[in-house]
Formats: sequence, structure tokens, C-alpha cells
Amino acid sequence: MKKIIIAIDGFSSCGKSTMAKDLAREIGYIYIDTGAMYRAVTLYCIEHHLFNADGSIREEELKSRMNDIHISFRLDAGTQRPVTVLNGTEVESRIRTMEVSSHVSPVATLGFVREALVRQQQAMGKEKGIVMDGRDIGTVVFPEAELKIFVTASAEIRAQRRYDELKAKGEEASFEEILHNVEERDRIDQTRKVSPLRKADDAILLDNSHMSIAEQKEWLTAQYERAIHA
Ligand code: C5P
Repeated sequence: MKKIIIAIDGFSSCGKSTMAKDLAREIGYIYIDTGAMYRAVTLYCIEHHLFNADGSIREEELKSRMNDIHISFRLDAGTQRPVTVLNGTEVESRIRTMEVSSHVSPVATLGFVREALVRQQQAMGKEKGIVMDGRDIGTVVFPEAELKIFVTASAEIRAQRRYDELKAKGEEASFEEILHNVEERDRIDQTRKVSPLRKADDAILLDNSHMSIAEQKEWLTAQYERAIHA
């Protein structure tokens, strides 16, 4: 069967990765969470003290260390879900903290970081048969992707979903803080100079504010069926 590239972009915490992961598993494609890659670089910066006290990044130092940052994914034997690996160490839960969430967007504005990660992402999709989610997949990483989806939902609904997720994991969370973080990341992602978050002209828009996970899954599967038979 013909293999295609499926690009899923959209705002933070809109459930892109759940949809993308489910579809990839169902159709036997590789799933790549590109947000996890930006988060892993951010975790590296935190752990190597590359942030100044005012939150700015020591850019030159990060630039000189980019070749020392190796990010990959592997399937967790227990959950059968992909986990993120940074320089040989599994960091899946450490990249999902509020600390990383509140530092990641400035890291993702840096041109040299994006160039390095986009290059790796393009290599991962060379053979097609891939579902990749992020902010610039349909516009920059794979502008020729056969199926492009752009997902959105209201900021309040996205913050509530993130809040429920953190609570379910037993983590302390404040709804107000999460809402602020979601809105701030939207703002930085949409206004940055390099590869700002925007819907590709040929992407299909999905507002999932009032859709269940099952409904989204059904909708995405139908889009995939249509795309491979196009
Ligand atoms: O998808 P997630 O919310 O985990 O992404 C974390 C951050 O990484 C985003 O807020 C955005 O700043 C950045 N990102 C990006 N380009 C991508 C994926 C994520 O700039 N392709």
C-alpha cells in the first residue's frame, strides 16, 4: 500500500499528539513528536545552566553544544508507547514539567536550534509512512506532505485538558498558571520570526473544542483513507 507523510500541526495542548499517536499505531506508521525534541533541548539547557537569571538563553554556548545534544525515541517495553531519549537517558517525564513548558518556546525561536532539529525530522520521514506532529511540519519540515491537519481548540479548553492530565499524574498544578502558559506559548509560537506557527494553505482545519477523543480518531482515520486513495 502507498505510504504517505501525515503532518499534524496546531496550538499547544490541543490533543494533537493523542490523535497522531493513535492513528500511527492503527495504520502501522512511525510517530514522531517534534515538540518532545524542542523540550529535550530545553531540558538540556536547564540542566547545563544555559539560562540566565532573567530567563534569556546563553545562545553562543548552546550553539557550540548543539552537536553534543542527541535526541531519539524508543518504544517503552511496558506501555508500548514511544519515549524520548536525550543523550542515552530516558527523559519522557522530565520534559513534560511546567518548568520545561515555560522555557521551551524561547528555545524554539532560535534559528540554529530549528535548523538542527528540522534536518533530523526530515531524515526521519525520508521513507514516508510517518505521522509527525508539531508547529511547522506542514509548512517547513514537509511542505509536500500528502495529508496536513491543523488542530485548534479554545485556550480555556486546552488549559483544562492539560490541568486534568497533570492532576491525573498526581502533579501539583494551577489552572491559572497553565492557562497563562498555554496563551504565552501560542503568542511566542505565532509571532516568532523563524517558522512561526501558522496553518499551511492546504492543511485541513480541525477545531476539536467539542469533540471526544473517539470522534477525533474517527475523523482523522477518514482523512487518512481519503488521502491514500487520492
Ligand atoms: O508540542 P509541545 O507543546 O510539546 O511543544 C513544545 C513547544 O515546542 C511549543 O510550544 C513550541 O514552542 C515548540 N515547537 C516548535 N516546533 C515544533 C514543535 C514544537 O516550535 N515543530
